[in-house]
Amino acid sequence: MPGKNISKTAPLSPDEIALREELRADVQKLAGDIGERNMWHYAKLDAAADFIEDSFSRAGFHPRRDTYEIRGQPCHNIEAEIPGAPRGAAVSSPPPPIILIGAHYDSVFGSPGANDNGSGMAATLALARRFAGTQLNHPLRFVAFVNEEPPYFLSDEMGSFIYAGRCKKRGDKISAMISLETIGYFSDAPHSQTYPSPGLGLFYPKVGNFIGFVSNLPSRTLLHRVITLFRKHAKIPSEGAALPGFVPGVSWSDQWSFWRYGYPGIMVTDTAPFRYPHYHSSTDTPDKLDYDRFTLVVSGMEKVIEHLDKF
Ligand SMILES: [Zn+2]
Repeated sequence: MPGKNISKTAPLSPDEIALREELRADVQKLAGDIGERNMWHYAKLDAAADFIEDSFSRAGFHPRRDTYEIRGQPCHNIEAEIPGAPRGAAVSSPPPPIILIGAHYDSVFGSPGANDNGSGMAATLALARRFAGTQLNHPLRFVAFVNEEPPYFLSDEMGSFIYAGRCKKRGDKISAMISLETIGYFSDAPHSQTYPSPGLGLFYPKVGNFIGFVSNLPSRTLLHRVITLFRKHAKIPSEGAALPGFVPGVSWSDQWSFWRYGYPGIMVTDTAPFRYPHYHSSTDTPDKLDYDRFTLVVSGMEKVIEHLDKF
């Protein structure tokens, strides 16, 4: 429909157009073909898990299901990893820490979850495909998390909380957890952007045309590294904030689980309820996303990961 979500961005390159169509197809698969996927729609949740596992396999990974049970029903986090092999490192030197990119694949009750979080999941798959088969210094792990949404949200049954606890128990060293959470909606309309507190509104834009980077205070060094790299390489405006974890929205995704176990983590987000009119609603459908700007977020994150790996 004219006038709605018109991108004011430079034309996409051929690589970016290919990426955009990949993102569009995967959002359509998750939110259009599969649809609402959660414990109330368990067969759909399972279909999403199969699709994600299959996508990782087709990209050349050997994905692993990290399974736990809720009232007798198996729930699966799904991971795919590229082992890091630092060039010239002595065999005895400690392995470099893991860079972890994750997104939840369940949708909230009553919603097909195109933006929340078909967008983050599609981005995770697209990034996995782009790094598959590359030689990296750090292990690079892509994880699809189950049960992020209520009633599991911020509880000990949240998929990422179970997963992060197991990482801690195994002694996994993780230097960066990047949570891709609702990253596909942009607007150029005046006052299209709101904030959890009026104070923040004084310092940040009132137009929802940017991508946000959010962390708690202990993860602010990681936040600054990521946003500096993003601004250097990405073709879309960005805003960043390291805030106390109790500020509404700051903890609202899988990075929270990693914070609980002492890992640094950040969230990449279009700010979800503070911008997106279809947040947690039956109208969060694939047609609401701005695929051009969504693509620029993902291509920017590709560069961020590439450069994070160098240190
Ligand atoms: Zn979400």
